[in-house]
Amino acid sequence: MRLDAPQTIGVKKATAPRLEVRNVSCTFDGREVVRNVSFQVEPGEIMCLLGPSGCGKSTTLRVVAGIERQSAGSVHADGKMLCNEVFATPPEARGVGLIFQDFALFPHLTVGQNIAFGLKGSKSEMRARVDELLERVDLAGYADKTPHMLSGGEQQRVALARALAPRPRIMLMDEPFSGLDNRLRDGIRDETLQLLKEEGTAVVLVTHEPEEAMRMADQIALMRDGQIVQKGAPYNIYNAPCDKAAAAFFSDIN
Ligand code: ADP
Ligand code: MG
Repeated sequence: MRLDAPQTIGVKKATAPRLEVRNVSCTFDGREVVRNVSFQVEPGEIMCLLGPSGCGKSTTLRVVAGIERQSAGSVHADGKMLCNEVFATPPEARGVGLIFQDFALFPHLTVGQNIAFGLKGSKSEMRARVDELLERVDLAGYADKTPHMLSGGEQQRVALARALAPRPRIMLMDEPFSGLDNRLRDGIRDETLQLLKEEGTAVVLVTHEPEEAMRMADQIALMRDGQIVQKGAPYNIYNAPCDKAAAAFFSDIN
């Protein structure tokens, strides 16, 4: 146990961040793929985990979601511990929404039923929420279709609407826009993240594209070989990269 770590003793501080990842490491078969990763995200803020393929972005997100266990460190939401080396709140009890690359819809349910799945409220409230979200992802009128009638990109947009539906306090997004065609991508990405901001959700967005991070992030955590090598506002990281490799990573942006 780290004795210098901040201690919370029973009382929830008014200033606790919405999400705090504290010194998290993750080991597979003796190899540390995430090393001492720490970051905080406030309500309405977008934190981008940015880095090349294999640097540990998805693993970090999976630890926060509760579908992977860390070997060290802890995760906290609003001052309450979600997990550490020996304790883990189950994923469904974390108040965390997930949208991953390999989304899956329930094939036997309609689009509307998929989005409303797990929502509480009256039928008319649910219907209104479904319609509002379908409009956001540019699929108005699709509620009664079934997933097999939709293209891959359309299915992904339904998955996005489903993740947004319960208004989670924390949203974890693993390259959720990468499968969308360019024509729709920017609009849906901007609208989705704007909606999450308006609702005060803390967002962790994983991407390997510096352009996407520059455009969408309030904060960027630049990752390499399992570690965060630099953290800060997009403008600051872009203008003062911590080393040559970081500079090279950003150099393709026009
Ligand atoms: P990223 O999302 O940045 O591409 P990942 O977090 O998916 O990176 O993976 C980081 C490293 O951990 C990779 O080398 C990957 O092969 C490895 N890894 C991820 N998941 C597992 C697992 N379940 N078992 C073993 N190795 C894994
Ligand atoms: Mg990944």
